Amino acid sequence: MNRSSNSSFTQAKVLFVPVMASEPDPRDDDESARHAELGLRKIIHVDMDAFFASVEQRDNPELKGRPVAVGGAGGRGVVAAASYEARKFGVRSAMPSVTALRLCPELVFVRPRFDAYKDVSRQIRRVFEHYTPVIEPLSLDEAYLDVTDDRLGIGSATRIATLIRQEIRAKTRLTASAGVSYNKFLAKLASDQNKPDGLCVIRPGEGAQFVAGLPIRRFHGVGPRAGAKMQALGIATGADLAAKDIARLRQHFGSMADYLFRAARGIDLRPVAAHRVRKSVGGERTFSEDIGSGAALRETLANIIDIVWDRIEAAQARGRTVTLKLKFTDFQIMTRATSLPDYVSGKAEFAALAGALLEAELPLRGPIRLMGLTLGNLEGAGDEKPPRDAAQLSLL
Ligand SMILES: [Mg+2]
Repeated sequence: MNRSSNSSFTQAKVLFVPVMASEPDPRDDDESARHAELGLRKIIHVDMDAFFASVEQRDNPELKGRPVAVGGAGGRGVVAAASYEARKFGVRSAMPSVTALRLCPELVFVRPRFDAYKDVSRQIRRVFEHYTPVIEPLSLDEAYLDVTDDRLGIGSATRIATLIRQEIRAKTRLTASAGVSYNKFLAKLASDQNKPDGLCVIRPGEGAQFVAGLPIRRFHGVGPRAGAKMQALGIATGADLAAKDIARLRQHFGSMADYLFRAARGIDLRPVAAHRVRKSVGGERTFSEDIGSGAALRETLANIIDIVWDRIEAAQARGRTVTLKLKFTDFQIMTRATSLPDYVSGKAEFAALAGALLEAELPLRGPIRLMGLTLGNLEGAGDEKPPRDAAQLSLL
């Protein structure tokens, strides 16, 4: 059963905040005319539920109903994905496996099988293609779909989302949640609203109010670091964010500021980019004191992963190559890179690849003064130069 929700926001009409180039005429009550005037789209965000863990539970019935973590159980292992049973204990992706085991001693660890996940990813992609050519994957199990054109004449985006979820379940024996709205930012929030196996619709006029009550950490692109910064600034909800002016946001959040300013008002002008020009994203950090111990290096890397992943999400970049850069105290620079055949599927995989690059170099020949991390190689194969953007995105 779909659980369609509109209880979390009122049905009352809310005027759009006038940030768009042409403001809506408040006298115009015709929803579809306003929709066209504002260039609003019909966007669906589809997101598989606890994806890696659900595939494992599907393929190994002994795991059904049990707390499952996909990832390495060893001392340095990280949880790549957790089943809902495991999440009840507080187990989360990107959590060190030792922490996860402490929270949930019965936790069953399963090695990731990326080939199996990629097979499912291709299956759901084919389902999407049936309904629209305008598909923008975010990772193996998530995509934005622009269904404004409704080429099958189904009649509503909500109905299309329902059909897609049914078809995914029939073809993969897995559940997906979907969010339906008039821009990407809201559609993604909506898909998260009634997880797992849920559907949520945010209609034109409802976005600003929906966003106002949300905790800021639910905003796509606001990771641990930006979240901590917001907490320090007293920004806990969308309403708090909307109260800040653009100059102040730019001062604290740089290139993310405009996105955040609009998002706080339920506005997002980014198109679903089926063939976007892909970007490389990265960042680096120079230390006030040189660091050399394995523990300090790992901690620093974890920190940089958080920062860079926030940027990757905000830029909506995807890539296949993770590059680690270390600058030693004698200013020698070492870079190490690893590439996947497909896009890095999410933060957990990004962190695992970056961690493996560092581990392979330990112990270092000496202390370092800088560490950097980039996600790149976004187009062709094997001819990657260091991405230009990395240098421009200094972190501090
Ligand atoms: Mg998912």
